[in-house]
Amino acid sequence: MTTNSHSHLLAPLDLGFTTLKNRVIMGSMHTGLEDRFYNYPKLAAYFAERARGGVGLMVTGGISPGRRGWLLPFGGTMNYFFDVFNHQHITKAVHLEGGKILMQILHSGRYGYQPFVVSASAIKSPISLFKPRALTEAGIQSTIREYVHCAKLAQKAGYDGVEIMGSEGYLLNQFLCSRTNLREDGWGGSIENRMRLSVEIVQKIRAEVGEKFILMYRLSVLDFVEGGNSWEEVVQVARAIEHAGATILNTGFGWHEARIPTIVTSVPRAAFRAVVARLKAVVTIPVVASNRINTPDVAEDILAKGDADLVSMARPFLADPEFVNKVATKRTDEINTCIACNQACLDHTFSNQRATCLVNPRAGYETELIYIKKPISKKVAVVGSGPAGLSTATVAAECGHDVTLFESSNQIGGQFRLAMQIPGKEEFAETVRYFGRRIETTGVKLRLNHRVTREELIAQGFDEIVIATGIVPRTPKIVGVNRPNVLSYLDVLQHKKPVGKKVAIIGAGGIGFDVAEYLLHDPSVALPISVENWCAEWGADLTNLTQGGLATQKIPAEPFRQLYLLQRKVSKVGASLGKTSGWVHRAALTHKGVILLAGVEYNKIDDAGLHISVSGEPRLLEVDNVILCAGQDPLAELMPDDFVSHSSDASLLHRQPNFHRIGGARLAAELDAKRAIREGAMLAASL
Ligand code: FAD
Ligand code: NAP
Ligand code: SF4
Repeated sequence: MTTNSHSHLLAPLDLGFTTLKNRVIMGSMHTGLEDRFYNYPKLAAYFAERARGGVGLMVTGGISPGRRGWLLPFGGTMNYFFDVFNHQHITKAVHLEGGKILMQILHSGRYGYQPFVVSASAIKSPISLFKPRALTEAGIQSTIREYVHCAKLAQKAGYDGVEIMGSEGYLLNQFLCSRTNLREDGWGGSIENRMRLSVEIVQKIRAEVGEKFILMYRLSVLDFVEGGNSWEEVVQVARAIEHAGATILNTGFGWHEARIPTIVTSVPRAAFRAVVARLKAVVTIPVVASNRINTPDVAEDILAKGDADLVSMARPFLADPEFVNKVATKRTDEINTCIACNQACLDHTFSNQRATCLVNPRAGYETELIYIKKPISKKVAVVGSGPAGLSTATVAAECGHDVTLFESSNQIGGQFRLAMQIPGKEEFAETVRYFGRRIETTGVKLRLNHRVTREELIAQGFDEIVIATGIVPRTPKIVGVNRPNVLSYLDVLQHKKPVGKKVAIIGAGGIGFDVAEYLLHDPSVALPISVENWCAEWGADLTNLTQGGLATQKIPAEPFRQLYLLQRKVSKVGASLGKTSGWVHRAALTHKGVILLAGVEYNKIDDAGLHISVSGEPRLLEVDNVILCAGQDPLAELMPDDFVSHSSDASLLHRQPNFHRIGGARLAAELDAKRAIREGAMLAASL
């Protein structure tokens, strides 16, 4: 899918009353900063940085038109004149940088996590504690007035337009589908009635704001839930929204409660482009492609083939605010690609933390984590080129320090090189590629195949020495653990030792799950997974011939091995995985027949297999191999407290470099790449 030029991506789009400078939209993302007025200057800096990076149009996180539409208590709202002043921080900052921005109006309906929730009918959602009230006729009319008032205030605040959030299972989507709309009045029943709320909102906003204001509607194209809309209904809604006065039609896929994933890393890139192309054929206004588009080549291909008029990428702009400028200046190899891990963005949002980005810890912290040239250039050694070391070395070099990065193996990346081999985690290779290029552009001196010693570090006269040597896998104390049928995850992923057809995995953390995915994959099937195979596995019907895009039958691939995934804790297996991706991992393994066992006691390993007890009941798992994924311990041998007194060279004693340790070398518990990269960047910025 590689294209040499990105001429379609960079082409302007004339909307008649205004022109977008290119075809790239930064889609709406809730950062958490929207919810408190005192955070608006930070939000303004966040958007300004992205406007400076060249994106054609941005959309804010969801702003509620009133209290009933809050996602969370006291969430970001635009319904008083006073709110205009907060939002002006954003619009002014964006316009100063030559950008354009829409405010997204989002009414959460029954997805709200607060007691005032309302919906089309009083049906509780599986993902909120609060049962909604069904809106009365008067309630519907006041909701329409709130939307119109909200759009009018957005216009006063200087926004270039608004996006009406009509997908992902929020209020308007709840009215649109019979799953949640059981009304028997003029707002329920036929699709004409179910879409009335959306259509009237668009019509009335258009009448209020005039023609020269962008009105983008995000339409749910595939609901991926039972009781979702059919293709004919989707087309009817799209046409009605166009006639009601929308300028642009954005697309959305899957309700939040859907059990088909739509944005995690294992979803194939641009999986939904063909459906967007079908939608584009039935309307005349510009249509936007969205979901799992993360590289300029994929985006260009969508536009070049005419599947969409614009491309929306959201998380890729957390990962790299300069995405578009890098494309325009032919530096696409310098783009920090979003790996769709959700760990620092959506997982944060759903646990009420500020959204940021695993690969770019500055996202959302533009005014707090600043990389500036330091007045004095120091000589810095970084030992270990895993995520922690790569982040430290490149940020330190960007800040003007003279940095040498030592790596004992022949490649950079550390454990990320193992992660990127897992089926469905191919994107992780992009981070290694990005850091490789950044080492070149920042001038870090890379010393591969160099297991550095303490003496060597001291002899070279470094001012700062950063130990980022990572971890060693933990070997649990189980009788028989040293037998040849027991392997570590390194034996499997790195040393490629042969593994039998029946396997027990000890440890059900992130690595245990990943090793299971790896062992379930039939090596004769090419990776990354094709859209067709992905649809078959998850039961997605992209033609939407069935209601809601749910295929009548799932066709999971035949499991390649028989697996047991075990933990000692009695909690649900996989409970420690990411909020927005854990269910996908659990479902994927369950589809493939993996037996998940909690509350396991490990008794011994012998020729017969693994002897365990579950709730006191002894069991033998007759397996060919036992694989250890039982956590890690820090590797920080370079850093004893008395390192200078161990040196044999007395002349070195006058110099005391500052030692630091970060990532796994500092603390292996609760370690992930998010923490490793953030720690590295923060340390480097402070040197
Ligand atoms: P490491 O990545 O372990 O890097 C340490 C580096 O130091 C290595 O390259 C090593 O060769 C080098 N080194 C060691 N000693 C020396 C020496 N004396 N001299 C020179 N070099 C030395 N995390 C996530 O956040 N999300 C995920 O989805 C995820 N998936 C994973 C999947 C797998 C299969 C694995 C194994 C890990 C995964 N992780 C994931 C964990 C993540 O990769 C680690 O948390 C992260 O790599 C830790 O970074 P680090 O830099 O501290 O250490
Ligand atoms: P982990 O999440 O801490 O899991 C370790 C597993 O080993 C647990 O299931 C634990 O469960 C078990 N265990 C610990 N000590 C044991 C012992 N002495 N004997 C037997 N079992 C033991 O660590 P990890 O799986 O090694 O992953 C490392 C880090 O990488 C994690 O922090 C994780 O966040 C990150 N990672 C993330 C992802 C992701 O998708 N986000 C993927 C891979 C890795 P019991 O104690 O209950 O037995
Ligand atoms: Fe993308 Fe992960 Fe960053 Fe979110 S945290 S923007 S998914 S790389």
